[in-house]
Amino acid sequence: MAHLYVDGEWREPVAEGRRDIRCPADGTLVATVAEGTRPDAEAAIAAARRAFDEGPWPRTPERERGALLLRTADLMERDAKEFARAESLDTGKRLVESEYDIADVVSCFRHYGGIAGTDAGRVVDTGRDDAVSRVVYEPVGVCGLITPWNYPLLQASWKVAPALVAGNTIILKPSELTPSTSILLMKALEEAGLPAGAANLVLGAGPEVGAPLSEHPDVDLVSFTGGLETGKRIMASAAATVKKVALELGGKNPNVVFADADFEAAVDFALTAVFLHSGQVCSAGARLIVEDTLHDRFVDEVVRRARLVRLGGPFDPEAETGPLISAQHLAKVEAYVAAGIAEGAVLRCGGARPDDPALGNGHYYPPTVLDACTQDMRAVHEESFGPVLTVERFTDEDDAVRIANDTDYGLAGAVWTQDAGRAQRVARRLRHGTVWINDYHPYVPQAEWGGFGHSGVGRELGRSGLDEYREPKHIWQNIQPRPQRWFRG
Ligand code: NAD
Repeated sequence: MAHLYVDGEWREPVAEGRRDIRCPADGTLVATVAEGTRPDAEAAIAAARRAFDEGPWPRTPERERGALLLRTADLMERDAKEFARAESLDTGKRLVESEYDIADVVSCFRHYGGIAGTDAGRVVDTGRDDAVSRVVYEPVGVCGLITPWNYPLLQASWKVAPALVAGNTIILKPSELTPSTSILLMKALEEAGLPAGAANLVLGAGPEVGAPLSEHPDVDLVSFTGGLETGKRIMASAAATVKKVALELGGKNPNVVFADADFEAAVDFALTAVFLHSGQVCSAGARLIVEDTLHDRFVDEVVRRARLVRLGGPFDPEAETGPLISAQHLAKVEAYVAAGIAEGAVLRCGGARPDDPALGNGHYYPPTVLDACTQDMRAVHEESFGPVLTVERFTDEDDAVRIANDTDYGLAGAVWTQDAGRAQRVARRLRHGTVWINDYHPYVPQAEWGGFGHSGVGRELGRSGLDEYREPKHIWQNIQPRPQRWFRG
């Protein structure tokens, strides 16, 4: 079973491991894929190192590297249906959501392909006529890219596209639960003509094939998207070889609603913010922070609509959201709800697995609203990564900002008000990497994505998302060298 892509070849894993991929919506077998182990990761690292040190890719003009990304985008667009279907089967998410994800992946490749060659660095004023100075960009080297299961190809694209366009060579390690679209991506890169060893794919579990990417001395940079605890482990093990580290971790994101907000839109987005993809979104608006005077009417309407949300599999046209990724994750979400209730939260809806027999084989959990929450509750300050909305009240602007910022994380958040001055004031005071005003969730590849605090280190997307993969180098040239006589002899 040749699902590992190393040095331009599709390979069997050394230990002949296998893993069954089952659709979280109904448990059906989607695929049996190769499962790599440490020697496979090491072979991929060696291939990427050779390709970086001796291969053509880092020396290919950036415009040509960009052209290859644009060809890859065209190929993914050609095969978009196959990509979206594979993403839905692995994750259980609705097909329409996977179609949006794949369109976003294509845009990301087009963005970085399109800006290739437009930034040659800069000339610096030396203050002297006999010396010129410029800053140019070099690729960092061999990059280990580790991605999660919730947006498998989208998260990979935010790393793969800028890393490759900057001239690095890469080893991609997708989540072991959702490998299918990463296999398709490698096929597209191969068809687009990427040289051998420039992009490598190793499938397998984190400790086996992810850990070597953060430990091995031949890897120069590790970029990780996933959970906080794994991120801390990766950062610690990368320290031994002083690797560059980029981390996109979780969030516990506030959605702040003032009493003067557009009621209907704010309610509608409060639902989308947290229940999209059953809350398995790093930027999910899981903490609703609502002004005291609006609280009862607003929460009643959120609860009424949350009860109507229809659960179902990826190809059910009536479904509005899908299952959780695994039985283990479902148990974790249930435990957060139980902890919230035990600590005094009021369960307003959801809170128990659905009894519809049609959903019996999937890992479903209904939209759940916990009211009367306070910051000290685990369900409020830890990421449940499920369809669980906690509700808190605030009295005034300062109180809203204080509650919204009272988190170790700092990924994203929103403020709802029709007072434009207040909207801007609150947006500036929120200690989060993305702030939406009267909206929730949109992003564009031109703008940075990432978090304050425990939400991570560095940024993806935008100019900074490219800079993660470039080493600025200062080149100074004395065009008329003469002895300086600092030392007299
Ligand atoms: P996870 O940390 O369990 O796994 C992520 C990846 O790390 C997987 O590929 C896994 O195999 C690998 N891994 C596990 N142990 C490892 C180790 N010791 N060394 C190296 N790699 C290892 O996370 P997950 O459950 O797949 O994803 C959910 C988490 O991802 C959530 O916390 C979510 O908030 C976060 N996330 C963040 C963003 C963002 O942009 N900030 C985006 C998506 C998801």
